[in-house]
Amino acid sequence: MGVAIGIDLGTSNSCVCAIRDGEPIVFADQEGRRTQPSIVAFGYGKSAVVGWKARRQLLYAPESTVISAKRLIGRRSGSVEVERMKAQSAYGITEGQAGELQVRVQGKLFTPAEISAHVLVHMKKIAEAALGEPVTQAVVTVPAYFNDNQRQATRDAATMAGLECLRILNEPTAAALAYGFKQGKRQHVAVYDLGGGTFDISILRIDDDFFEVIATAGDTFLGGDDFDYAAADQFMELFCQSSGVDVRDNRTVRMKLREAAERAKVALSTGEAVEVIVPALHRTGDGREFDFKTTVDRFTYAQWVLPLVQRTFDVCDDALKAANMSTRQIDHVLLVGGMTRYPLIRESVAGHFHKAPNTTVNPDEVVAIGAAIQAWNLTNLEEGGGSVLLDVTPQSLGVRTVGGFCETLIARNTAVPTESTKVFHTAFDLQTEVRISVYQGESRMADDNELLGEFVLEGLAPKPRGQVRVRVSFEIDNDGIVHVRAVDSVLGLERAIRIESRSGVPVEASQARPFDDIDF
Ligand code: AMP
Repeated sequence: MGVAIGIDLGTSNSCVCAIRDGEPIVFADQEGRRTQPSIVAFGYGKSAVVGWKARRQLLYAPESTVISAKRLIGRRSGSVEVERMKAQSAYGITEGQAGELQVRVQGKLFTPAEISAHVLVHMKKIAEAALGEPVTQAVVTVPAYFNDNQRQATRDAATMAGLECLRILNEPTAAALAYGFKQGKRQHVAVYDLGGGTFDISILRIDDDFFEVIATAGDTFLGGDDFDYAAADQFMELFCQSSGVDVRDNRTVRMKLREAAERAKVALSTGEAVEVIVPALHRTGDGREFDFKTTVDRFTYAQWVLPLVQRTFDVCDDALKAANMSTRQIDHVLLVGGMTRYPLIRESVAGHFHKAPNTTVNPDEVVAIGAAIQAWNLTNLEEGGGSVLLDVTPQSLGVRTVGGFCETLIARNTAVPTESTKVFHTAFDLQTEVRISVYQGESRMADDNELLGEFVLEGLAPKPRGQVRVRVSFEIDNDGIVHVRAVDSVLGLERAIRIESRSGVPVEASQARPFDDIDF
């Protein structure tokens, strides 16, 4: 069996690593770059290019260059996040016939998982070139707050990329593993992970090689992209005012300003002020050409993005509350994700947690290193397998009941793998089938949560209401992926489903009725 790799599949950048002779090796491409932009560009008639080459195309052909596909993966068309992405993206985002989300580039359609598969193939090839042998197994990381649909779609992407996915691992957990592996540490750590597209906070207890996640919380639509769009919105207003031309609906202009905003942000992480220049930003129909020019200092930038920074702390407080801990009980705060290079983030984290964050880990590589350690653990069990990881499920799982309520079966922050069974009974006389709709989220109302999947249990004995009971078992595996089973008590009929990553369209258009209430 060859080497199993760890891949950090990021919104903005990806990184690949493996353990060789007990040491993590982060693989670089031929130019020596240790991370790759998670960007897939489609050329005219040619196959897709990925990574740094694709990034170059972003400026002159944004409409055929797919960025931030991770923000779409496993999401349903019509969701708030998808609508936001549609408004921001230069490439097309559409809905397929079954309601599934698709990316449209040069007349061709791709699922977000297919785009991510391109990135994974690219990372796999970089590892293979460095190792000089084929790679078939990987641990792939996801934000801790990803729901089942997003995890399943990431797993599908790995399969499409020709990789056996050994484990879907939460990014903050991977970071903690890399930080504490073989260090003999005994402490409580908070992993503050602000990447390109998502924010996660996990609180862990490390005891030597035992890693236990106590609580996790996150926002899958809060990351560096949002900082860039916030600054790009300011640039847009400045440009429209100074040029007298309204280009607020021009996607190419918006994309170029986003690029400029990102460059300004990175420059401001080391300098006090930056001059932003975008030559020939816009050409009007009558041939007039406009450049964009402005100066931004750290103070102004901070005012634009402070609401976003504050949102991360609201999420941190939520996780601390769930862990029943105060900031003072946290021994170390680890910073993960490219955005944590920005001084405002570091200073704000220090203020919130009353201690300087730990900066010994490389925020761009630590997640891939943790993934590689876990890949090594899982493929070297006979050698003791290294560390023990206990993770939790980030969101509550439940089913829809009459009245549109969501009845929780597994509460958030329960250690995984886990299983829970509850017994339901029929709500109507002679009811012969029931629909089981599975949701993830914290709201009492099912519709406010994420629909993971639905299935119908048919052929129930036609009995008076309440006499047919159905046992519903939910299992969450080590990858955080949900499996559901239902068995009726009269006929012993069983229907098992693995909830597939799906569009939210009912699996079967059925007249099946919902459940009435619950027996424990
Ligand atoms: P990641 O998903 O962890 O690769 O993080 C990518 C995000 O980090 C992007 O939004 C980048 O613009 C941002 N980033 C990378 N380097 C810096 C830096 N020096 N200062 C501010 N943001 C950065």
